[in-house]
Amino acid sequence: MSDLLAPGAVIGILGGGQLGRMLSVAASRLGFRCHIYDPSPQPPAGDVAAQVTTAQWDDTPALRAFAQSVDVITFEFENIPAATLDLLESLRPVRPGRQALAVSQDRVSEKEFLAGLGLRVAPFAPVTDAASLTAALARIGTPAILKTARLGYDGKGQARIMHPDQAEAALDAMQGAPAVLEGFVQFEREVSVIAARGVTGEVACYDPGENVHEDGILRTTTLPAQLTPSQHVDAVLLAGKILNALDYVGVMGVELFVAHDGLVVNEIAPRVHNSGHWTQAGCAVDQFEQHIRAVAGWPLGNGVRHMDVVMENLIGPDIDRVPELARVADVQIHLYGKGAARPGRKMGHVNRVIR
Ligand code: AMP
Repeated sequence: MSDLLAPGAVIGILGGGQLGRMLSVAASRLGFRCHIYDPSPQPPAGDVAAQVTTAQWDDTPALRAFAQSVDVITFEFENIPAATLDLLESLRPVRPGRQALAVSQDRVSEKEFLAGLGLRVAPFAPVTDAASLTAALARIGTPAILKTARLGYDGKGQARIMHPDQAEAALDAMQGAPAVLEGFVQFEREVSVIAARGVTGEVACYDPGENVHEDGILRTTTLPAQLTPSQHVDAVLLAGKILNALDYVGVMGVELFVAHDGLVVNEIAPRVHNSGHWTQAGCAVDQFEQHIRAVAGWPLGNGVRHMDVVMENLIGPDIDRVPELARVADVQIHLYGKGAARPGRKMGHVNRVIR
């Protein structure tokens, strides 16, 4: 365990949003200090981190100074430019590593990787222009969803095609970016598994949570998910298989569709995940501490759930409900310290424990 970071060490985090903020809090509980790197000024994580660098992803001197000031580097979002990683990796360990980022940054490579592991994914085809969309629709049929291959989140960069005559409008919505057409999965429910893998290869999975989305944004995660015992085992095992295949270090979110005849992997996120926030109230070691333990080379918590929990995101004006929520015993409130409560902006979340 020569990799084991001692308290007092500095963890560098790329991205300073709410995930970076909660990672910093968890790291400080373990005696670490965090250095946040984020292009935007006053990121939410800045309030709780020892140091913040405000610089662009291509600012070589700033990246170099950041790397030299930390012991290990992790990230809260997956769209880090390749050249940035090249530089950082040459100076300090980056966990999770390159392969997980490369696979998950592009929906086509992600699906090819998952299918290569023998896991089910929605039927898909790369789309770059009208001709390839026509060919993809001929093969996959409708309903289908056209998604930008890269840089999509919270349902952004997606267009549904219920009928072939909507193809042109869907392609326009991609604004010329490479895309992927996905067949529509008729799912009964959506669940996700938050899973972790340590530097020694140990794997710990949390129970699957059941997710409800509104307008492409996660609204609630409920534990336990309504799964049969065999679906539960399948979900956890496939998450472990993905982590092992990537020689992964850290926490990953694996989003699944539960279809009548089995589980279909929607996407993977190589980081702590919104649908894992319930672990803050439901488990002795939550996903944020788990991720920090993994990247610091520490042993993992076991992921056992001691409570049923409903996590609800506070989106945009939901923030006005905080005074009322604060009066409810058993509701754990997490606010992200963001300014304007714009529609669709994640301002915080609450974990309601169910006895
Ligand atoms: P994504 O950004 O890919 O996670 O998609 C956001 C949400 O859109 C998902 O959580 C699903 O509710 C829905 N969705 C995405 N892809 C599909 C699909 N192939 N079939 C059915 N629903 C989908």
